[in-house]
Amino acid sequence: MRQINFFKNSACLSVLVFFFSCQPIKYDNKFSDSVDLRVDSILSIMTLEEKIGQMTQINLTVIAKGPNKWASSFPMEIDPVKARKAIVDYKVGSVLNTINNTAQTPKAWFNTITEIQKFAMDSSRLSIPIIYGVDAIHGATYTNGATMFPQQITTAASWNPQNAYNMASVCAYETRASSIPWNFSPVLDLGMNPRFPRQFESFGEDPLLVKKFGEQMIKGYQGEDNNTSNKTKLAACMKHFVGYHATITGKDRTPAYIPDHVLKEYHITPFKTAIDAGVKTVMINSGLINGIPVHSSYKIMTEILRNQLGFEGVILTDWEDINKLCDRDKIAKNRKEATRLAINAGVDMSMVPYEYEEFIRNLIELVNEGKVKMSRIDDAVRRIIKLKLELGLFQNPTTNCEEYPDFGSDKFAKMAYESASESITLLKNKDDILPLTSNSKILVTGPNANNMRCLNGAWSYSWQGDLTDSFAINHNTIYEAFIKKYDSINIKFISGVSYKQNGSFYEMKEDNIQKAVDLAKKSDYVFLCLGENTYTEKPGDLNDLSLHELQIKFAKELSKCGKPIILILNIGRPRIITEIEPLMSAVLNIYLPGNYGADALVDIISGAVNPSGKLPYTYPAFPNSLSTYYYKPSEVQNNAQGAYNYVGEINNLYDFGYGLSYSDFEISNFTLQDDSISFSDTIFISAEVFNQSDIDGFETIQIYSSDRFALMSPDNKRLRDFKKVFVRSNSSKTVRFEIPVKDLFYVNELNEFTLESGMFDIYVGPSSNNLQKLPILINN
Ligand code: BGC
Repeated sequence: MRQINFFKNSACLSVLVFFFSCQPIKYDNKFSDSVDLRVDSILSIMTLEEKIGQMTQINLTVIAKGPNKWASSFPMEIDPVKARKAIVDYKVGSVLNTINNTAQTPKAWFNTITEIQKFAMDSSRLSIPIIYGVDAIHGATYTNGATMFPQQITTAASWNPQNAYNMASVCAYETRASSIPWNFSPVLDLGMNPRFPRQFESFGEDPLLVKKFGEQMIKGYQGEDNNTSNKTKLAACMKHFVGYHATITGKDRTPAYIPDHVLKEYHITPFKTAIDAGVKTVMINSGLINGIPVHSSYKIMTEILRNQLGFEGVILTDWEDINKLCDRDKIAKNRKEATRLAINAGVDMSMVPYEYEEFIRNLIELVNEGKVKMSRIDDAVRRIIKLKLELGLFQNPTTNCEEYPDFGSDKFAKMAYESASESITLLKNKDDILPLTSNSKILVTGPNANNMRCLNGAWSYSWQGDLTDSFAINHNTIYEAFIKKYDSINIKFISGVSYKQNGSFYEMKEDNIQKAVDLAKKSDYVFLCLGENTYTEKPGDLNDLSLHELQIKFAKELSKCGKPIILILNIGRPRIITEIEPLMSAVLNIYLPGNYGADALVDIISGAVNPSGKLPYTYPAFPNSLSTYYYKPSEVQNNAQGAYNYVGEINNLYDFGYGLSYSDFEISNFTLQDDSISFSDTIFISAEVFNQSDIDGFETIQIYSSDRFALMSPDNKRLRDFKKVFVRSNSSKTVRFEIPVKDLFYVNELNEFTLESGMFDIYVGPSSNNLQKLPILINN
């Protein structure tokens, strides 16, 4: 350490740098200096090439054995020639992803990352470890044997942020067991667009839900104290800053038009909370806002993220996004110009991820030409080195799976199961057809009934989730879970229609609908499992939000048998089912519940578990009538006399926050402590929940507010708080809330948080459309 400080002030620096460039410099691992001092010391002896190498992230395939940089051979092995070139010669500082787009064992990860670190630490002058990153978004995605939790959208449906914390802490542990210290998660995008192919990666449409669940994810990943040198924690990467889902067409990486005040009030809030919670890194939105690709936006990355929100961590690009400024967006005439724009706008590290030589060469030239300032490079590298130091990578460049006895344990599986069982949402239960306690003849059918792939969604063992059935063979599909729960002799399965893979896309095909109908006739109950196959990003783009026509046809054919049909929806986004919903006796939305989802589902069907999930999004009734629950009043223009009946009226199939229970709850004694209050006060709310049934259960009490009049047309209503409470049968519980009046602020046209004096309404209820209301006067 002392040696490094000496270099900093020495006039002989360049001579010594030359001398030392011939041999590795070793650091004392027992540093007593602060992280910032150590960063300065390292930075002071780095050459421009070493600095720019640190700003470069490459795909693992680039240095793995295999025919070319896009494909690798199996098993996973580092190619020493390629690795030496990238890591030693070009001084690349970060690697991401897996090979062949498939999961590896923890041991294989340990061996691979050990190999990579040898090049970085033993053969390079400064011995700076590589930082390895992956997308482990609902469990350690690319690790065989890891615990796969429900996806974020499912977790949000539990309305219990503890499940997000559990998912993240298990995922941190198991990702570290694979020697990986950096996770490109959580997704804090506002999932307000049901057409968007990544809605399932979000916590849904409401900013408060995203904020509360996102905060718990950060704590689970990084620890309550943000001590990421703890070998069971890792660095989180909130993404994709910002406004990624709000595209006009609903398609991935297409333009969004978002006024500043909307960006600030709805999209930025969850990121701000994560920053305050200490999140270490961020990934940038791969799309465009108001015609400007976000990767070139000084305003978004530097003015907003750095200066206004105070984010001090590393800013990472998304996949190939610097090149896209030229290749896709046509705002830069070549890739060098694209690099200048992105780095000057605030990017610290580029997920290149293939043509790293070109990126490094361009950036070196730009610095030498004075087009990118050395101070900008130092700023970026300082943050990257700090991240590596904070992760303890200099001391522990790898973590060994042998030290992680809880990897894939029953304890972790139980948490994943509990999250699924708290999330699954009962949307319809005509004549209390569920739970199904008797041993009856059951037909389990539909394309989603007998595979693990659909239960997990994308980012499961592979990017598009297409390999899940072989990796998750020891877990139960819906059909298998039925067989385990009920007398197997009574359970029949036929798919009726099924998915057919076509390249990266899939199509539906008929698979003996008539035979399924015949079997349905001989059954007492039909469990019809419909939905989607796996997708994310561009392969998940949609032209029609309706459920596939073959699935609709199948449901209609089955309904002609006159047997009760229970619809199981296994979907990443709310596909339109309005035509067939009236034909169903019950509807259960299981979203993407992960490896334990089918067990949880069948426990709900049998009554072993009382359902308690609630929708984290509005379930639309029609593809052209998409609106969040916080729409503006002008969405509803039918007059009070009913003289008009406009088609544009809000018309949802199920409302945000809605979900049934086997218990029967009643909310009463709703009171506000004050009916008049000032801006600096707190609103004290209480209500009583009575469980007037013989079944114990959980109910989620939701608090909303609305402003009666404001200069900017106010939202219909906004969720302000919620609590999920357990209420024993035939008993009641009092639930209290404290909401600071400042939480009711909105962002005005001048982009300022504002509140106007006047009458507000406070609501309490079990969903956004079943509420009791009390007025309150708020004065400045
Ligand atoms: C996705 C990111 C992801 C990255 C690395 C991109 O295509 O948009 O969410 O983190 O790939 O896998």
